[in-house]
Amino acid sequence: MLIVFLGAPGAGKGTQAKTLAGKKNLTHLATGDLLRAEVAAGTELGLAAKAFMDRGDLVPDDVMIGMIQGRLASPGSDGLLLDGFPRTLAQAQALDEALASAGASVDQSIYFKVSEEELVRRLAGRSTCPDCQRAYHDTFNPPHRADECDDCGTSLIRREDDKADAVRNRLKVYGTQTTPVLDHYRTAGKLVEVDGEQAIDAVQEDLAVAVG
Ligand SMILES: [Zn+2]
Repeated sequence: MLIVFLGAPGAGKGTQAKTLAGKKNLTHLATGDLLRAEVAAGTELGLAAKAFMDRGDLVPDDVMIGMIQGRLASPGSDGLLLDGFPRTLAQAQALDEALASAGASVDQSIYFKVSEEELVRRLAGRSTCPDCQRAYHDTFNPPHRADECDDCGTSLIRREDDKADAVRNRLKVYGTQTTPVLDHYRTAGKLVEVDGEQAIDAVQEDLAVAVG
């Protein structure tokens, strides 16, 4: 079984991927982790990837796909759950070709649908204390006094990346890249949309139905 998780940063894919992978005995491949593992292990593909990363370049699709292919037949696992790949139409098409040559294909893709407004709320609300490093969130874990650390009273700071405009820009780039990927799987009859704004348990139940 091969499942692809699609959804913007902040959509909650990672949490759900861990749970579903456990239930269905799938290997959870978060592509960032896969990349780091291959680099650390010094595999041929890991070394190739490192050369690109050291130059500040993106790791080419064929290197990423090679790593995924290498995990297709993971012993003791009933399949793969891809989390973070493919991100572009070119990657989705290259993945299809690579899988076809191994007699495999994507069985189901799941899109975690969360509105931009909600994603901004989740991602842009983060702040930290520069003194004791305690982390806060405006909605989910607010300090008792606005913008002040509960522990030491220091003024909280927000990273540039976590400010609303930066978050909106990241989401825009993500949407532009990913919309054609959604269309690709929808056309193939392999896309299920899950309402990612529900509580974690409710999302889990919808996923169980979608995956069967
Ligand atoms: Zn503090």
